[in-house]
Amino acid sequence: MIDILPLQTVFPDRRERRFMTRRTGIVRDNRYLRHGAHYMEPETPRRLEAIYAMLDTAAMKEKFIEIAPRHAEVEELKMFHEPAYIERVAGTTGKKRVSLDPDTETTEESYDTARLAAGGVMNAVDSVMSGDCDNAFALIRPPGHHADAGHAAGFCIFNNVVLGALHALAKHHLSRILIGDWDMHHGNGTQDAFYADGRVLYFSTHEFPAYPGTGRVEETGCEAGTGCTINVPLAPGAGNAQYVTVFKRILEPVAMHFRPELILLSAGFDIHEKDPLGGMKVTEKGFAALTRILMNIADACCGGKLVAVLEGGYNLSGLTESVKAVLLEMRDDTRISDEDIGRMEQAAENRQDPVCERVVRQQKPYWPVF
Ligand SMILES: [Zn+2]
Repeated sequence: MIDILPLQTVFPDRRERRFMTRRTGIVRDNRYLRHGAHYMEPETPRRLEAIYAMLDTAAMKEKFIEIAPRHAEVEELKMFHEPAYIERVAGTTGKKRVSLDPDTETTEESYDTARLAAGGVMNAVDSVMSGDCDNAFALIRPPGHHADAGHAAGFCIFNNVVLGALHALAKHHLSRILIGDWDMHHGNGTQDAFYADGRVLYFSTHEFPAYPGTGRVEETGCEAGTGCTINVPLAPGAGNAQYVTVFKRILEPVAMHFRPELILLSAGFDIHEKDPLGGMKVTEKGFAALTRILMNIADACCGGKLVAVLEGGYNLSGLTESVKAVLLEMRDDTRISDEDIGRMEQAAENRQDPVCERVVRQQKPYWPVF
């Protein structure tokens, strides 16, 4: 006689997992279109309009859990930003145009929108930490990673990913967060925020030399944060193979040793091959592979907790298709295999790319994995 086992025994969690998708949250809100409504190029509301339209296509509709954003409180902004700077940005409210930096202008509702961007990331963090979602992607603007404590820069007003990390450290009592940043530009504001703070490991790949000029291999953190900043400056022209190699050879071993309790990602899509600002050659498949590497680290260290935050990306079709590829990977609708990742890495094998060796040499004193 065959015993009829309860369903849970027949399909234990791990085996079942192969057939299940993850619960992926998204932050989307039309109020993000209000900042710089008249902007022509490059950081325009058209970027999010294109992404939101993609989310409404039959293939994507109803796949994601919508996380409602909120405005970050002034007290929360003060976790990183100087009160005088916050007041300066608040003072732009209702004004048609104020220049905060050569690249960064505000319009009537920019202060409000920037607070909503930071609060959107905080709510995404809460959703993932509480288990309401397995992972999440905050599809917000303005972007954040160039903003430092007292300055706007490079289209960024408040540093969304820094505020999200500080929120996670404070509210969820975490002690180790990994921030990955694959945007084409170095996240100087994020690096600054945690340069002396060993609770946050900041890992950035970026085109070099390029704006903002920071992010050299030798910038590795100081005091309690020594070794917790890892910069991988890449020459123009790097594509999927180089990025996957850097993520596998540098990020993965260090992150596994660090064991983050949450992973945040500054997801910039200006490394896409079609991007007008960047000189990199990453494709949709490359973005999916990098996402999978981060998911594998998150699965091994923190139950898959990953929150992606939109930064740059200025070719609308490249941006939209790449966000789609990342979201499908996050949800496990697509799964780039270890073999695929290995093959992509192999493709770089024959290319002389001394940057990995330089980074390893620089970081060796801080990480026993090297
Ligand atoms: Zn960028």
